[in-house]
Formats: sequence, structure tokens, C-alpha cells
Amino acid sequence: MPPDDNQQKGDVMGRPANDPNQFYQSALIALEDIGLQTALDRGAVRANVAREASMNQTTDRARLREQAQAARLRGLHDLPELLEQVEAHISAQGGTVLWALDADEANRHVLDICRRHDLRRGVKAKSMVTEEIELVPFLEAHDIRMIETDLGEYVVQLSGDRPSHITMPIMHHTKESVRDILMQQAGMPHADTPEQMTAFAREALRGEYIAADFGISGGNFIIAETGHIVTVTNEGNGRLCTGLPPVHIAVVGIEKVIPTWEDFLTLYQLLCRSASGQQMSVYMNAVRSPARTDENDGPEHLYLILVDNGRSDIYGSEYAEALACIRCGACLNTCPVYQNVGGHAYGGVYPGPIGAVLTPLFKGKANAVPLPFASSLCGACQTACPVNINIPDMLLKLRHDLQDEQELIWQGAMTGFGYTFSHPLLYRTAGFIARTAGSVCDRTTGSVYDRTAGSGHDSIGKLPPPFDGWTESRDFPPFAAQPFRDWWKQNRERKK
Ligand code: SF4
Repeated sequence: MPPDDNQQKGDVMGRPANDPNQFYQSALIALEDIGLQTALDRGAVRANVAREASMNQTTDRARLREQAQAARLRGLHDLPELLEQVEAHISAQGGTVLWALDADEANRHVLDICRRHDLRRGVKAKSMVTEEIELVPFLEAHDIRMIETDLGEYVVQLSGDRPSHITMPIMHHTKESVRDILMQQAGMPHADTPEQMTAFAREALRGEYIAADFGISGGNFIIAETGHIVTVTNEGNGRLCTGLPPVHIAVVGIEKVIPTWEDFLTLYQLLCRSASGQQMSVYMNAVRSPARTDENDGPEHLYLILVDNGRSDIYGSEYAEALACIRCGACLNTCPVYQNVGGHAYGGVYPGPIGAVLTPLFKGKANAVPLPFASSLCGACQTACPVNINIPDMLLKLRHDLQDEQELIWQGAMTGFGYTFSHPLLYRTAGFIARTAGSVCDRTTGSVYDRTAGSGHDSIGKLPPPFDGWTESRDFPPFAAQPFRDWWKQNRERKK
């Protein structure tokens, strides 16, 4: 059933609405977007091929995945103790560890730090958890200027857009559309090659690093045995954000802790190969303290904000395995649904198969009902996943959960029906309301049923929310203009 005109328009930029419950409507918009389809053909499919080639270069890819999965599961199993180790190490090295139960507390911590040190201008490396807590809009609303320094995030920020992929935020753009954004929004002279565009962005961003009061980063991993926060990048912007400004604030989800450096070496190999087909990234940055007295550079202050924001609830649930995700994006690139609809259609920070699991868990299942169904359950996501997360199984569980919630609604409705049918006055009142509402629906939703003439389509065109789901793909018969009880009285009286 096609969405109505309003839904097809998406947001003000003509993109799909940023609402997981609008997935089906958003997917239809995406499928008709020629530019997006070109970008996905080039980006997702190419990344998938590169990952496969890179994984085939390893001596034993199955064994490597087993080791990686074991490392993540060990880390999750001992998570509370490992987090305490991290806190102890960083505190001992002169850093400050803060805990944030939710997005609001995390954002408040950052704002407090900014006020304490009089910070007004920041640079930021790519970080999914800061997207999740909407840190940049929060800081900008408090007059703190933030510049995204990852090239993709920079383009997203310039165009007022949203990222559409975990590791490649402008997966939805082509080279040509990026060029247009840089020319229109940042004053870049005409350029034809990615090298020219990158050189322009590099030049523009260099001054921002130097002028910044503080830098914000995420963290791909935190190593519990030493307390190091590790960032993996290809552009070097992570190192400039964490090392150049006088204050470094790392905002990291609590699930990112792994036990040892040995575990890191396994996971690092797989992260790089799975994300981009590289054997290793161009940069790998590890910090655990402000600059020491014998060091010439580095920040004067280091803060680590450990963000929960729903992770503890997932940790204690049957979906805990989802926390093992290392955010490589491989499941997105290989997914036939993502390859066709892209990231914005999912309407959340985390798109693709893992997003179809995480978004309902983070935002509440009722706020992302279509996502667990946005999969053919072909299993390509699990096959590609470097830590072997059983995404199809979790999607099925989520479907069952949603079904159970529907059952509750159904049981409630049946109880209501039973009560109404056993109370004559209530029944008559309900009949009157239904007939009145039915004629209002006829007038407001364009049903062509003509009660007086008894002609036209014998149905109500569309029910209003929250009942509109029923009439999306079926007709709703109109209520009889005259209750059967009245008709019976009339006909009996006539016979007497
Ligand atoms: S679920 Fe697996 S494949 Fe998908 S982003 Fe996470 S680690 Fe990568």
C-alpha cells in the first residue's frame, strides 16, 4: 500500500523522515532516489567486495573470528570489573573518569567541563555514541562552537544532513554531490578529484585544530589492563583532536572495554578488514593520561565519560550479545535491504541489520516496530560480522516480543468487548459513538459510501489513528445507519 503524499515527502531536505516507525515509507522514497541508488551501488557493494578479499588474505579467517568473538564475550562477561580497572588506571595517570547514566547526564558532564575550563570552541572526531546522545546540537545550543573533523562528518555538518552509515557517514553521497556541497557550503573552488576535495578540507580544518580549546573523541576500544582509550582512524583527525587542544574529552559507551592488548590485536585486525578491507588503518591512537611533565605536547586535561544510556538494560537481557558489536559496518554493506534503501530509511543513529536490533533496544520497541521486520533473515549479516553476532536470531526474538505486546493489546481489546456486550446501556452508547464516528470518517477520509442512497463503495476509506493500520491494506465495513435493535422493534410493531 503506498504511503500518503505527506509521508512521501520525508523531511524538509526531501530525505526520509528521521523516524524508525516510518521505515516502510522511507524505504519507498529511498528506492526512487537515483542519486542514492548510485551511491549505494558504488559504496556498499564495493566495501563488501573489499572486505571479502581482505578476509581471504588471512591464514585462517574462521579461527580469527572465533578469537575475536571470544575476546568480546570475555570483555562483556567481566564488564563491571573491567570498567573499575579502567577508572583506576586513568585516575592514577592524572585523568578524570565520569559516569553518565543517560544522554542528558553525558551532555551535562561535557558542558560542565566546558564551563569549568572556559571552553568555547571544540573539534570533534567521529564517534557514534556522541551521535546517539546528540552532543553537538546540545553544545551548540549552549553557544559552544563544534566542528566535525572526520571528512564525512564534516560534509554532513556542512549540509545539515545526517550520517547514513556507521563507518562511512556519507555513504548516501556520490563524489559529485560531495563536490557540490563543498563548493556551495565551504567555498571550495571547482574540483574534480577526491584528492582535490580532501586537500581543500584538510586545509580548512587545520586552522580549526589550532584554534580549538578542546577536542572530543569517542573510542573504538578501551584496554582494561592499562586503561588506554584507543581510536582507529584513516585521516589522522582523531590524533589531532585528542592531542592538540588543551583539553581532551573522550565520550565512550561502557561496552567498549576489552580485557587485554592481545585481545585488541585480534579485534583491530578484524575491525580494519571488515570496515574497509584494509589490513590495518592508517592511524591508531592510544591515550590514557594528560601530557606528562616530561612530554612536550598533549592535552593538559583528559576526561573520560563512560556512557550507559540503556546499555545496562541490554546487558541484563537476552540481547546482551548485541553489545559485542565493534561498529565495523560490515553487516550494513552486505545486507540486501541496506544495499537498496541506505541508512536514512532506518530513522536512527544505527542503521542496517545491527541498527534493526539496537534501535528498538535503545529507543523502545514500540518506537521502532518495522525495523526487526526489515530483513529477509538471509543471514548475510552474521556471516559478515567479525565477532559472529547472531543478528538474525535477535531479529526473530524482537519480532516475537512485538507479537507478544500485540497480544496484550488484543487481550485488552477482547476484555473490553466482553464487558461492553454484557452491559446494555454501555453497548447502546458504544453503538451510537461508532455510527457517529463512522460518518465523520466518511466525510474526513474521502469514503464514497452513500448511506442515504445505499450506493457507492461499501466501506469506510480509512480509519483515523491509532486504527489506521487496519485500513492500510483492507476495507472497513461501514456501521449500519440503523441499529438492529431499532429495526427489530420497527418491524415487529408493524406486524402487530
Ligand atoms: S554487528 Fe558485527 S558486522 Fe555489524 S557493525 Fe557490529 S561488529 Fe560489524
